[in-house]
Amino acid sequence: MILLNPGPVSLSAKVRRALQAEDLCHREPEFAALTKAILEKLESVYRGAAQTHAAVLLTASGSGAVEAMLSTFAPRNSTTLVVANGVYGERMLDMLTRQGKPCIGLTGSWESPIELESVERLLAEHPDISHLAVVHHETTTGRLNELSAIAKLCAERQIELMIDAVSSFGAEWLDFEVWNPLAIASTANKCLHGVPGVSFVMARRETLEHSQTQATTLYFDLLRYYRDQRSGWSPFTQAVQGFMALDAALDELLDSGSWSARREVYRQRSARIATRLARLGAQPLLAEGASSMLRSYLYPEGKSYTPLHDGLKKRGFTIYAGQGPLQARIFRIATMGEIGEEDMLSLMNALTEVLG
Ligand SMILES: *Cc1c(COP(=O)(O)O)cnc(C)c1O
Repeated sequence: MILLNPGPVSLSAKVRRALQAEDLCHREPEFAALTKAILEKLESVYRGAAQTHAAVLLTASGSGAVEAMLSTFAPRNSTTLVVANGVYGERMLDMLTRQGKPCIGLTGSWESPIELESVERLLAEHPDISHLAVVHHETTTGRLNELSAIAKLCAERQIELMIDAVSSFGAEWLDFEVWNPLAIASTANKCLHGVPGVSFVMARRETLEHSQTQATTLYFDLLRYYRDQRSGWSPFTQAVQGFMALDAALDELLDSGSWSARREVYRQRSARIATRLARLGAQPLLAEGASSMLRSYLYPEGKSYTPLHDGLKKRGFTIYAGQGPLQARIFRIATMGEIGEEDMLSLMNALTEVLG
């Protein structure tokens, strides 16, 4: 089965082999060494990031990493602004609300880019806003939010930036230096091509070293993970095999030219799929601003999800429906993971057979 859903992804042979490695206890020195190796590899995906930011590994899905970021870094006595244009932005607002932390949501249309003027206006109206949380790639629609301008607004006002980069870390540009984010949350099983169950947060070293704040939750206290992992320990049972798989997956990423090379591969796949779908009457939802790893398409006249999904699944491909109000209007095709040329050719045929 080739997975064209936005995570988990189809695994390479190397990552699959890593899952078969010998059993290992998470309290042994071999696991400490594995953890250290993964942390260093994560920190080297974006050149220069290691100077200012450090990785913290978690046994949790991507939402767990986002929740840990907010649990650890969103303050209790000042306000976090959540800028949302999709499911995952709105989820961060929900998380903060459940954590009982002061937050304001700027929840815009799922189909539009973030309106910078509205962000600016809210920041002016609410001087108590000290943190801003935003999604980089909003997987709801496939839009890559333009974060440079938002980061600039934050820098000018000394507002701390927290980014959900769950579906972009490893294949889109993240500017650790200029954006200077407090934290970026992501996962092993999207653009990094590992398996589900392992996720991570890259946070400013200085804050990890010196922050005295206590996270809202015990399990998601990143400061504790940071201290433990640096000293060769792990606070809870970790997804050992998932760590092994991520280590192998990171080797593949770094050996093949890192995030920019991967972005190029995704872009080429997405372009081929879009061209074929256009011929079959399925137009993209977004006129511009789509990410490399996922696009949303409007159904051609008379077509709907179930026959499309089932027809493709019978031919070896899993695609994804739209969410919420977009459910009846769009389907989504991701281009992450191990997909060979033969797979691409047979996908083209499958699309033609099912939609033609
Ligand atoms: C997939 C995704 C998540 C959630 O990840 P899970 O692994 O499903 O918990 C969060 N944010 C974004 C942008 C995502 O694409």
